[in-house]
Amino acid sequence: MTQPIALVTGGARGIGKATAELFIENGYHAILLDRDEDALAETSAAMAGSTPYVCDVSNPQAGGEIAAKIRADFGRLDCLVNNAGVADFGPIEACDQATWRKIMDTNLDGMFYLTQALTPLLKDARGSIVNIASISGLRASTLRVAYGTSKAAVIHLTKQQACELGEYGIRANAVAPGPVKTKLSIAVHTPEIIQAYHDAIPLNRYGSERELAEVIFFLCSPKASYVTGQVIAVDGGFEATGVGLPALRV
Ligand code: NDP
Repeated sequence: MTQPIALVTGGARGIGKATAELFIENGYHAILLDRDEDALAETSAAMAGSTPYVCDVSNPQAGGEIAAKIRADFGRLDCLVNNAGVADFGPIEACDQATWRKIMDTNLDGMFYLTQALTPLLKDARGSIVNIASISGLRASTLRVAYGTSKAAVIHLTKQQACELGEYGIRANAVAPGPVKTKLSIAVHTPEIIQAYHDAIPLNRYGSERELAEVIFFLCSPKASYVTGQVIAVDGGFEATGVGLPALRV
């Protein structure tokens, strides 16, 4: 098979879906991997050039099965976008073991195990990896001890992958999104949080799924052939503002 193949986890909706659409527009076949079977079937049915894989990335055994399935179905894997993620906002003292594990199992452990299992395929293709972190992994904030810690770990995992897999021609980069209106963010962003983001972000708005997809696709593509081990915030300038004092606006 000569057509390049991209696997996007959490591809049923949100940023993952927009990313898969962009891969397809650029001549790739996109494997959409998600645990939400119904949403996945609906999204894939409406997206020519995609194949749905139902899978929970937090299952450490899943990677081996996915690797075997990709070899059988396509024989190659050029790009891996580790995008599936879960969020849970609450104070440190309320973060019980179940909450901590739920966040880490998907956001960090799942990303590690799936990438490890797919590395032989990526070696064959001298492929690329993009891991989706968050601005919450770049700076600490209230009410997200597990989420923020998992995303900071994703950024370091990306650097480890870039260091060790570079000699096989595999590149690994991270994208740190600012707020984007998706199922995940709607569940944790109150109206007050939305207003505060608008006030604090230099571009004064949320990003779109497509704006995230453009940077993810660029990092996966040969146009970024000498970029590896980097984290790029796609956040309307939020991270650059530091503490940020909206009251000092003109
Ligand atoms: P969405 O909720 O729109 O999409 C995420 C998809 O991933 C959902 O279909 C979800 O299923 C699926 N998923 C979650 N856990 C697993 C799992 N264990 N195995 C397989 N699939 C899973 O979220 P976004 O598009 O907003 O998020 C994509 C990424 O971007 C995440 O990593 C998130 O942390 C990150 N991000 C998002 C921001 C935002 O403001 N939207 C900001 C910063 C980072 P289900 O619905 O069942 O959970």
